[in-house]
Amino acid sequence: MRQNYRVPHVDADKCKLCQRCPVRAKCKTRALVQFDAYELPYIDRDICRACLTCVDECPFRAIVIE
Ligand code: SF4
Ligand code: SF4
Repeated sequence: MRQNYRVPHVDADKCKLCQRCPVRAKCKTRALVQFDAYELPYIDRDICRACLTCVDECPFRAIVIE
């Protein structure tokens, strides 16, 4: 994790709980994790590189910077 203050998180109020969150495929470090198909994804802060790609890719703007 390079820039701790820029690591985003998934906003539970905005996330639509998409089946197999499509944004996961855009994360090169696989830091965006979703164990079950309709579960709220979360970002593993230990491996996130704070590239913010996921912030741009979520169609519902549910991934936000703290
Ligand atoms: S983070 Fe975005 S794309 Fe992923 S499940 Fe939530 S709303 Fe869907
Ligand atoms: S900020 Fe980059 S590394 Fe971190 S979860 Fe999003 S896409 Fe993955």
